[in-house]
Amino acid sequence: MNVKEHFSKRPSGGRLYLRPKSVEKCKTCGAPTGRNYISCKECYYALENIWLRDWNLLMNKKNIIRGSNEEKLLAKILFKEIDSNPWTIVDTAMTIIRCNTCGSEIGGGPDECQECSTAFGNLWAYDVEAMYQCQMTGNEHALRVGRWILRYPLRQKNSIVESWKFSIPILLTGKTPTNKQGQFFKKIIDGNKFDLSNKAYNSFEEAYADILNQI
Ligand SMILES: [Zn+2]
Ligand SMILES: [Zn+2]
Repeated sequence: MNVKEHFSKRPSGGRLYLRPKSVEKCKTCGAPTGRNYISCKECYYALENIWLRDWNLLMNKKNIIRGSNEEKLLAKILFKEIDSNPWTIVDTAMTIIRCNTCGSEIGGGPDECQECSTAFGNLWAYDVEAMYQCQMTGNEHALRVGRWILRYPLRQKNSIVESWKFSIPILLTGKTPTNKQGQFFKKIIDGNKFDLSNKAYNSFEEAYADILNQI
């Protein structure tokens, strides 16, 4: 059948937190802010606040205290309604819920955990539909993917983690690489052709031009 399904409108997310206009140097670790999400508190919150602002507003509206049992119960409900809640809310709910199989944050356990893989895999239909409906930008989708990868790096190849560590500070400013740039960076990182880990760039164009010049 070729009948187009009508999906309900996906709610947008991640738009309350005011993002930096340009890449900033993290005062704590010295890297471009956001790069060390895994290991530096300041970098962590520079990214995570996009999610937490939405979550905290929802908890305030419902009069729920963070860390309470009510919050846990609500997280489980929100996680089940994966397509009718903003992506930021679903992702944060998933940091509160533990996987029954492996005990990690649901969706973030080891690659072999089927329950986590299913939870992770189920996330992305929302993005496809939300982008189609213009309720999510390409930049927001990239941030979502990047945070999932940086938050649970053990699920990924090291080169993939490195490429997202490089991208996140620029993505935070609202910029998105073109397909051509994205493929170029992937090739550079996959091939270990150029060490991006101690470089700071303000835009993908700047990175592209600098790397081209040096390889
Ligand atoms: Zn930092
Ligand atoms: Zn698991």
